Amino acid sequence: MIPVLLVLNAGSSSLKFQVFEFGAAEDPRRVFRGLFEGLGNAPRLLIRDSAGTIVAEETLEAPAFGHEAALLHVAAWLRAHGQGLELAAVGHRVVHGGRAYDRPVRVDAQVLEALERLVPLAPLHQPHNLAPVRILRRRFPDLPQVACFDTAFHRAQPEIAQLFAVPHAMTERGVRRYGFHGLSYAHIASVLAEYDPALASGRVVVAHLGNGASLCALERGRSIATTMGFSALDGLPMGTRCGSLDAGVVFYMLRDMGLGPEEAERMLYTQSGLLGVSGLSNDMRRLRSLAATDPDARRAIDLFVYRIGREFGSLVAALGGLDALIFTGGIGENDVATRAEVLRGAAWAGFELDEAANACGGPRVTRGRGPAAWVVPADEEVMIARGTREVLGQVQRQPAL
Ligand code: ADP
Repeated sequence: MIPVLLVLNAGSSSLKFQVFEFGAAEDPRRVFRGLFEGLGNAPRLLIRDSAGTIVAEETLEAPAFGHEAALLHVAAWLRAHGQGLELAAVGHRVVHGGRAYDRPVRVDAQVLEALERLVPLAPLHQPHNLAPVRILRRRFPDLPQVACFDTAFHRAQPEIAQLFAVPHAMTERGVRRYGFHGLSYAHIASVLAEYDPALASGRVVVAHLGNGASLCALERGRSIATTMGFSALDGLPMGTRCGSLDAGVVFYMLRDMGLGPEEAERMLYTQSGLLGVSGLSNDMRRLRSLAATDPDARRAIDLFVYRIGREFGSLVAALGGLDALIFTGGIGENDVATRAEVLRGAAWAGFELDEAANACGGPRVTRGRGPAAWVVPADEEVMIARGTREVLGQVQRQPAL
C-alpha cells in the first residue's frame, strides 16, 4: 500500500481537499484534488486526478449533508477508487496560529484547545478549519493530524512590524499584526530560486491577489512585513472585504448608523471590497467584462489597483529597495489587465512592462534592467503536505514523543 496524505481546507459551506503521495525523499506528489461545495444544502462534489481529468462529479441530494458526511464520503471514495493508496495522515489549513505557532504542529487535545482559544481572533474562519480536526479525531482517533497556519510564516518578522500603536496591555492581550496568506508566501519563497537564483537572497514583494488579497515583503525568503494585520480584513480591498479602514469608521457604524457588531462585521467582510464599490460583483472576471461600459465596475477595479500601488510602495520602503514583484492568486495569475495596470502604476520603481509576455502569462512579464515582475502559481496545499510530512517525520524519529 502507498501511504497518502489528505490535505484539507475547510470553509463554512465548502471543503477543498487534495491527496498527496506521502513518499520519502522528494516533494509530495499530488494524486487527486477535490471540492465539496454547498455543504448543508444538496452539496456538489468534484474530484480531478493529477492530469486535471474529472474522475468524480456528484450532487448529493441530502439536505443534512454537512462536513462530517463530506469527510466520510471522501474517505470512502479514496478506499473505493484510490487503488493501493492508504490514508496515512491529514494536514489542515488553519487560518490562525496566534503568537505561539510559528510552524506546523501535530494536533493533540492540548493543541486543539489552544487553537480553539484563538477563535475570537478569526471568528469567521477558525471554527470551520477546526471542525474537521475534531470530527476526524472522533472518527479516526489513530490518524495523525497536523495543523498548518496562515499566520506562521509572518512570525519571523521583526517585532516592530508586528505591533500596533496601542496601549501595551492591548498588545499583550494579542492585539497585534499577525498577517495571513502565509502558506502561499512560504510556497512562493520556496520556489523563487527556480525563477531566478538571485531572488532567493533578494528583496521581493509578493502580491497574492485572489478573492482574499494581500502583499508580503520578502527579504532573503523571509517575511518582514505584510498588509494584513490583526484580521484578514486589513490591507488591500478584496472580493468582498474592505481592506484598510480608518478605525473611526467602525465607531461611526456602531454609534451613528446604529449597526450591531455582527451587522457591521458582515458589511465589512461580505458586502465591501470589489462587490461593495461596484455594487455588481466580487468576481474580477465579471468586473473586467463590464469595465469598458460600466463606470461602477471600472471604479471598483481602479480602487483595487490604486490600493495595491500604495501598499506596494510601503513594502518597498520596508525592504529598502526592490529586486522583484511576484503576482500570484486567481487574479495575479490570470488577469493580464490587473498586472499591466499595477506595473504601469509602479513604473517609478523601474518596471518596464513586457506586454507580449504579460499577455501570455509570463512567467517573466517585464524586460530591461529594472526590477523584474513574475507570475508564479500559488500552491498552498503543497506547503501543507510538506509541513505535515516534516512534522510526522520528526515524530517518527523521536519515538519517545
Ligand atoms: P480564493 O482567494 O478564493 O482562493 P482565487 O485565488 O481563486 O480565490 O481568485 C479568485 C479571483 O480570481 C476572482 O476574482 C476571479 O474573478 C479571479 N480570476 C480567476 N480567473 C481569472 C481570469 N482569467 N481573469 C481575471 N480574473 C480571474
